Amino acid sequence: MPRVFIKTYGCQMNERDSEAVAAQLVAKGYTLAPSEETADVVLLNTCSVRDLAEQKALNKMKAIAGVAGKERRSPVLGFMGCMAQSRGQKLIDELPDVDLVLGTQKFHRAAEYLDELLNGARKKIVDVAEEKDSEATIREHLLNGSAKKSVSAFVSIMQGCNQYCTFCIVPYTRGEERSRTIPDIVAECTELVSRGVKEITLLGQIVTSYGKRDIPARDGKSAFVQLLEAVHAIDGLKRIRFTSPHPKGYGDDLIDAYARLPRLCESAHLPVQSGSDRLLKLMHRGYTREKYTGIIKKLRAARPDIGISTDIIVGFPGETEKDFEETLSLAREVEFDQAYIFKYSPRRDTPAAAMPEQVPQRVREERNQVLLQTVNEICAHKYETFVGRQAQILVEGPSRRNSARMTGRTRCNKIVVFDGDERHCGQIMDVKITRAGSFTLYGDAAILNL
Ligand code: SAM
Repeated sequence: MPRVFIKTYGCQMNERDSEAVAAQLVAKGYTLAPSEETADVVLLNTCSVRDLAEQKALNKMKAIAGVAGKERRSPVLGFMGCMAQSRGQKLIDELPDVDLVLGTQKFHRAAEYLDELLNGARKKIVDVAEEKDSEATIREHLLNGSAKKSVSAFVSIMQGCNQYCTFCIVPYTRGEERSRTIPDIVAECTELVSRGVKEITLLGQIVTSYGKRDIPARDGKSAFVQLLEAVHAIDGLKRIRFTSPHPKGYGDDLIDAYARLPRLCESAHLPVQSGSDRLLKLMHRGYTREKYTGIIKKLRAARPDIGISTDIIVGFPGETEKDFEETLSLAREVEFDQAYIFKYSPRRDTPAAAMPEQVPQRVREERNQVLLQTVNEICAHKYETFVGRQAQILVEGPSRRNSARMTGRTRCNKIVVFDGDERHCGQIMDVKITRAGSFTLYGDAAILNL
């Protein structure tokens, strides 16, 4: 049976799409290869959000094709996902060793196309067309792949994005927003819980826009909050998370859901992008700094222990020193638990790429360093405040760095490493935090769980 190796670039949605493709192929009799060198099929699931991610995937494919050529192997090579969608046939024109280009609405066709390529029925396949109802096709899971996967699962609830931020390529690679139905999502979550999953993370490019077009608000609750309630009612599910939301989705109904739904973890990833109102407008974000900080205050009032993370872009076209100072001051004001900082990367066909006043690369680098240092100092201080406290964790499995230790996650989304063993996997337990490292806490379970 063919052996397949899938490498994923980019966000959790890409991870989830890759998992669904892997599960689909395993169900057809494929095995998962541990490395590209041992595979008959190599698929790269790509990201287009920044140029760096695209270049990494292109270079990787060139290297894989080069090594295979030297070893006189000819694995089937494929690009999937966002870059496949945006570049299409051009990928094969530039890299003739590539056999398959599979767009973002076509993941469920991977097995069918690979069969055709492997049995020689077709030589090359490019499919980046739109496909109705494709949002409901990312549903198969590979739960027995690792302990972590059986404890916590991602569920894709929608595809696409309608926000059209001026810097962002996603609406062009993922298409218009399309949402699955609530019963369909609940059925998938129920099945996962029956197979031992304790925590579910609902996924969407702007997850809070779920069902906006198709599911009317009820009792003042948006479609997304109705979905949260429905998932929350599943027996045996311990924790719910979601990502990635948009600040505009944090209406009072969602804040209220944090206060009412105990299984909804006190954790929120709220991409802010900039602290300058002028830039937020140019970015087409749809909120002001005041509105954003107002949401944070409400969330902290509803759940005082809430962990808040964000995404920030430095060097957006026209960003002045003053704009950048405002971003720094926002970071100090909010005191994020974690911040992902991106240097602005011009993306083809996006309005920002054509804006005058592109910020020089050197300035983007400098601002990146300054902001990183600021947020890292704040985050380190935040992590220190956990030392000596008790925290509830869901144990996910062996630690990645040291498999003799176990790792779990607090409700506010902090990783905790502790001395434990496989029998703890999937348990919700209390640990005492003894030490804080870089974005990791170290805990002692024995003190509290004798
Ligand atoms: N839901 C998110 C939001 O509210 O914007 C979008 C997720 S996006 C795929 C992940 C992050 O990539 C964005 O939040 C943004 O910070 C970053 N990003 C997107 N386009 C970018 C670009 N052209 N250059 C640099 N970073 C970018």
